[in-house]
Amino acid sequence: MQNNVDFSKLKDKEPSIMPLDKTKGGAPSNSFLDQVTIKCYYKENGENKPCFHCTMTGCHESWASPCHLKRVCHHLKEECKFVGSGTRATATLMLAGEALSASPSVSMKSKVSGEGSVYAVSKKAHKDVLEKELNLKVLWLLCVAMISPKIVDHQEWKDIIAMSNPSLMTFCSTTFSDAHIPSEAALVLQKSLEKLRKLHNLTITYDGNMTKGLQSIYTIHVITP
Ligand SMILES: [Zn+2]
Repeated sequence: MQNNVDFSKLKDKEPSIMPLDKTKGGAPSNSFLDQVTIKCYYKENGENKPCFHCTMTGCHESWASPCHLKRVCHHLKEECKFVGSGTRATATLMLAGEALSASPSVSMKSKVSGEGSVYAVSKKAHKDVLEKELNLKVLWLLCVAMISPKIVDHQEWKDIIAMSNPSLMTFCSTTFSDAHIPSEAALVLQKSLEKLRKLHNLTITYDGNMTKGLQSIYTIHVITP
C-alpha cells in the first residue's frame, strides 16, 4: 500500500449527493472514517488513482484506496500532530474495538451456537475464524518474542503454514505492524485503564528494553495493592 503521495498532487473529489456512492458497492461505509478522511485522487501515468487523505488541517498524510479503518485510527492515535483530543480518543476506542482478540474466538463461537460443535458453522465461516485465531497467535508470538513482523513475509514461513493447513494464510508483515499490532495495543491500554481506574495506592516502576531490530522500548509496570 502506498502512503503519503505528494500532497500538492492530490485533488479532492467533488462531493457526491449520496455519501460514498453507496449504489456503486464496495467496502461498507464507516461514519467515523467519513469524518476523518477525504476521498481524493492523484494522476499517475495519465490515470486518476483513487486515494484518501487525513482531514485534519495542516496534516498531509494520505493512503491508497481502499482506506483501512485500522491504519487511519493508528495515524490519528500515534502520528497526527493536528488532531484534537476528542477525535484521538475516538480513534483509540475504535482501534481497540478492531483488535483481533476483541472478536469471539473459535471456542466461544461453538459455545454460543449451542449446537455442540464448531463444525456446525459453515466451512467458510469456520476457516475465517480459524485464520483469525491463527493470526492472533502469530501476533502474540511476534510481540512476546519481540521478533520483526518481516519474518512472516519469508517463503519459509509460508511453507510452514501451508504444511500445517494449506487452506490458511497469515497476514503480511505490514498488516501486522500497521494495523493489527496497534489495534491490540489500544485494546490492552483500554483494558488496563479500565481496571486501574478503580484502584488506589498503585506502585509504578519504569524499565526499558531493546527489540531485535535495536529499537528502544520503554515499559511501565503498575503493581496493584
Ligand atoms: Zn493526520
